Amino acid sequence: MISPGSPPLGDIDTEEFRAVAHRAVDWIARYLDTVRERPVLAQVSPGEIRGRLPSVPPDQGAALDVIFEDFERLILPGITHWNHPRFFAYFGITGSTPGILAELLIAALNVNAMLWRTSPAATELEEVACDWLRQAIGLSQSFSGVINDTASSSTLYALAAARESVPGLEARKRGMAHARLRLYTSVEAHSSVEKAAIVLGIGQENVVKIPTDSAFRMDVRELANAIRKDRREELQPFAVVATVGTTSVTAVDPVPAIAAVCDQEKLWLHVDAAYGGAAAVLESHRWVLSGCDAADSLVVNPHKWLFTPIDCSVLFCRHEDLLARAFSLTPAYLQTSEAASVRNLMDYGSSLGRRFRALKLWFVLRAFGIDGARRRIAAHIEMAQELRSWIEADLDFELLAPTPFSTVVFRHRSTDSVNERIHDDVNASGLALISHSEVRGVYALRMAIGNLRTTPEDVRETWELIRSKAAHL
Ligand code: PLP
Repeated sequence: MISPGSPPLGDIDTEEFRAVAHRAVDWIARYLDTVRERPVLAQVSPGEIRGRLPSVPPDQGAALDVIFEDFERLILPGITHWNHPRFFAYFGITGSTPGILAELLIAALNVNAMLWRTSPAATELEEVACDWLRQAIGLSQSFSGVINDTASSSTLYALAAARESVPGLEARKRGMAHARLRLYTSVEAHSSVEKAAIVLGIGQENVVKIPTDSAFRMDVRELANAIRKDRREELQPFAVVATVGTTSVTAVDPVPAIAAVCDQEKLWLHVDAAYGGAAAVLESHRWVLSGCDAADSLVVNPHKWLFTPIDCSVLFCRHEDLLARAFSLTPAYLQTSEAASVRNLMDYGSSLGRRFRALKLWFVLRAFGIDGARRRIAAHIEMAQELRSWIEADLDFELLAPTPFSTVVFRHRSTDSVNERIHDDVNASGLALISHSEVRGVYALRMAIGNLRTTPEDVRETWELIRSKAAHL
């Protein structure tokens, strides 16, 4: 019972917090130092974790140290360790220590950066951190950046701005019932492009998947033909999405030639550089973004290959006004007197509330420096090249695609089911985690190197593990 006149109960005591937080920080440091001793893939079956948890909410509160112990005992066994040095699946990533520290502070400040005035530092730091990243990857000054949760959101927002730029369409006001827009991307593009088309009412049927050349790059002649054909049929082309580092084989679409087509056809060009964009910090890899200055928008995910904890995706756009035209909607309670002279971040996406993600990007960029990022990314690329050379030298295996970044795609020279068993056996061992894909109709194995704790020995031993699993089949 709450007795009348009793003081508000308030937060959990900060002394209790301090004690457990110290313990948690010690735990994190030890976790990072010893994570390689854990199985990479969670060794639990479906429903196991849930089954260990009460199905009804707690009526009475528990002490933080009890909850912390339960985290270790009940939750941790169900964790797949993305921060493990032998996590080579999907794209290898790192929640680095500066990023972890920033996340703690982000939660403590609990800022909602929707308006400039709801935390001027959050808005202005986002401007600065995005601009640092822009300079680091060599994009022109005509781009400004905003931070979203994921590349899927960034691409969705970019295509909403593209839709807004179509003369006379007025989709924002009138909806899409009267329009048949066409969007072009390669057969290798990430599913987030098609998802954006679903959300924007463009429709999956109107996403034209352009074939690729022998190196999995969008065929620009096919692109031009597809646009011409659509115009003849009185459909309305409006945007092209090119990819720098496709998900499956990390191919780089020929952006300069695609940009020329977009320029001629007056189409919006969005570049999905969610993974590959980070490599442009290296002089040797500047070429991956060549032609991108002519793009209208481009996404890079610091949470992929720039050591920032999930989630952090930067959308660069050359027409911030069009992003705002697509999304700005200000009810009376959000109007501010300074609106004309500041950026209100709520204007650049569909959600009102937004996390203070810039703080972690700032911590990460400062802690490593661009030179530090360069050297770490270069090491990942070098390890991938070494792995490539071992695969090339092994007659039982074959490479399936070029390796412009740090992801190697290959297979055992046998059947799909043998490759699938190699994949499953390696992952079930808990010693390493790899992923798979379909490349030109065959089952492919993928190893993506991107974790800061990965050593050449980790790569070597994982390759030996793959070979030994193959030998035992
Ligand atoms: N684009 C590419 C090329 C990707 O590989 C991925 C995910 O791996 C995405 C977009 C989607 O990223 P997110 O999970 O940030 O939405």
